[in-house]
Amino acid sequence: MPYTITRLCIDCVDTGCVRICPVDCIYQPTQPGCEGFPNQLYVDPVECIDCGACEPECPWGAIFPEQAVPPALCEDIALNHALREDKARFRIASYQSRALPAPEAVAANRAKWGLDSRQSSAPMAEQFRHAASKRDGFEG
Ligand code: SF4
Ligand code: SF4
Repeated sequence: MPYTITRLCIDCVDTGCVRICPVDCIYQPTQPGCEGFPNQLYVDPVECIDCGACEPECPWGAIFPEQAVPPALCEDIALNHALREDKARFRIASYQSRALPAPEAVAANRAKWGLDSRQSSAPMAEQFRHAASKRDGFEG
């Protein structure tokens, strides 16, 4: 079962997920505002090997296994699948280093898309910071 990038990624696209994906199966539209595809990244569900490495790398908590996508975001599963029918309009996303979002920004983004802003946002940010510090230490 592949992973899905949801609308929590829209306009956040800091690409921590891209850096970690071992099979380069995370794509971005070739032009911002690509018709029908919001400005976010997408997983090719066939190329995805279901390793789960991207999920804790996302500081916005935007990535879920398909079977665990919250109901409020479930339409995004089909959007990730739709990229396969329109692949010419996508390219493999490239990594760009960005500042980590504040926990308040993560909570506000969750609330904006109909998720409980209190649920898991702070622990998620903490979890990400822990993973990022370990990773940066490793890359040293
Ligand atoms: S790390 Fe999260 S917010 Fe950043 S591009 Fe990947 S899915 Fe989007
Ligand atoms: S689950 Fe693994 S293979 Fe699939 S998109 Fe995430 S990092 Fe890439």
